[in-house]
Amino acid sequence: MAHPKKEQTLILVKPDGLKRGLAGEIIKRFESRGFKIVGMKMVKPSIAHTKKHYLPTRAQLEGMGNKTLEMLKLSGKDPVKTMGTDRAIEIGRMINEWNFQFLSSSPVIAVVFEGPHAAEMGRKIVGHTLPFKAEIGTIRGDFSVDSPILGNLNKRPLRNIVHASGDAVEAKREIRHWFSKKELFEYKRVDEGIMFDR
Ligand code: ADP
Repeated sequence: MAHPKKEQTLILVKPDGLKRGLAGEIIKRFESRGFKIVGMKMVKPSIAHTKKHYLPTRAQLEGMGNKTLEMLKLSGKDPVKTMGTDRAIEIGRMINEWNFQFLSSSPVIAVVFEGPHAAEMGRKIVGHTLPFKAEIGTIRGDFSVDSPILGNLNKRPLRNIVHASGDAVEAKREIRHWFSKKELFEYKRVDEGIMFDR
């Protein structure tokens, strides 16, 4: 297991975040919390690359599909008419396909942040997947307003500006996928002493 100070997470400023000029704001929130940038680059990922980035399990696909089904029900829309199916897994697969297309549609900023509980805290800084459920003070809660219904009607993923690894295990796999060892750096921030030392 890595030293507690050395846990890492992958953050992507997705196409909508970059095009809205939010890259600096997103990076700032992690940096000012105390996380250290140990890798950063701008890339335009290929479809093949995004397919290896999003590797949801069947349960995760069903979860995405069920969120859409719930939203459709709440707004009185027929899933078969709007999505072509009422099967959660099929809808999840569709959203996953839209994610491949969207993430590879423009450059993105990929950043590896390091620090204690990086993945778990990263999720908190970013906020809930669905913008209307994201708390104020989180990145998504402060800067995104999209709804899955709008996304689903337009056959595109929800625009929630940023990706954050789900947990430490997922982060390791994602960081290996986006960064080579040579692209990750070690150095000391001047405030590490006051944040961590005796
Ligand atoms: P997160 O990005 O918070 O880890 P997920 O892994 O569940 O969320 O989903 C990946 C991305 O797929 C989301 O960030 C969002 O852009 C898109 N997405 C998820 N669920 C839906 C949905 N029901 N409708 C449209 N897009 C969705």
